[in-house]
Amino acid sequence: MPSFLAAADKDIAKEAGKILKKQGLDIRVDTKVTNAEVQGDQVVVTSESKGESSEESFDKLIVCVGRRAYSEKLLGDDSGIQLTERGLIDVNDQCKTNLDGVYAIGDLVRGPMLAHKAMEEGMMAVERIHGEKAQVNYDTIINVIYTHPEIAWVGLTEQEAEAAGFEVKTGSFNLAANGRALAQSEAEGSIKVVADAKTDRLLGMHAISAGAGDIVHQGMIAMEFVSSIEDLQLMTFAHPTISEAVHEAALSADGRAIHAIQRKKRKK
Ligand SMILES: Cc1cc2nc3c(=O)[nH]c(=O)nc-3n(C[C@H](O)[C@H](O)[C@H](O)COP(=O)(O)OP(=O)(O)OC[C@H]3O[C@@H](n4cnc5c(N)ncnc54)[C@H](O)[C@@H]3O)c2cc1C
Repeated sequence: MPSFLAAADKDIAKEAGKILKKQGLDIRVDTKVTNAEVQGDQVVVTSESKGESSEESFDKLIVCVGRRAYSEKLLGDDSGIQLTERGLIDVNDQCKTNLDGVYAIGDLVRGPMLAHKAMEEGMMAVERIHGEKAQVNYDTIINVIYTHPEIAWVGLTEQEAEAAGFEVKTGSFNLAANGRALAQSEAEGSIKVVADAKTDRLLGMHAISAGAGDIVHQGMIAMEFVSSIEDLQLMTFAHPTISEAVHEAALSADGRAIHAIQRKKRKK
């Protein structure tokens, strides 16, 4: 890929790149692995970058891209269940296939290949079979990258919100000014909120921080309750917690953060 963490919000991806490189990771974008061979106790990897090919030896090679649904020979030839071009089982928003009474969930169907998404879909399918009206909200599925510090987000990135036609406003807060992060020597990272400038509605929350995977659940709950940035501003967050940075990020969306230099004009 031409950029690092292409799916993440650009600001968070940039910060993640900086933090992880500082930890010693050698991150190469726009680089294609073209061959890998075991030679003795080493793996010789050939890669191509900017038209040039090079060979390097490593102790181990982990291949962690390219997961796909395993639907080969899963269904009988005459099952009648429709698959997509990519071999996924074709389902609607309620996980129902083209056949009445047949549902499919998880990695075999569209959407992110995540355990929590699969579990919710499983519950929805069973409840639907029982005639209930369950519905997974696909707009609030959380993504977590379990690095240290963690990277996590829910909802739209700033770039996705702009592409979707929203007039976007954002707020962010750096953990270098968060008391708890400093006290536990984890003051790297930041929290960012993305909102609709017209309605003030929260559209996304993004974090690279200690416990980011837990932190963004606040964004998920807020989004489920259709909260505005002002709602988050008006709540009292305990001190000293990393969650205070969520409050400050929301405040900063209107130039009102109290532990940061304000670059935006304060909202009247
Ligand atoms: C290395 C790794 C790390 C991951 N880490 C995370 C993570 O941190 N967080 C997260 O949210 N997700 C993670 N995932 C993704 C997560 O595991 C999947 O999204 C989730 O398990 C999907 O659930 P599922 O029920 O659709 O499929 P599965 O959990 O794969 O279950 C499918 C089951 O069907 C069985 N099966 C297959 N074919 C047949 C057949 N023909 N007949 C009968 N049984 C069959 C399989 O044996 C399996 O038990 C990770 C995945 C991998 C591979």
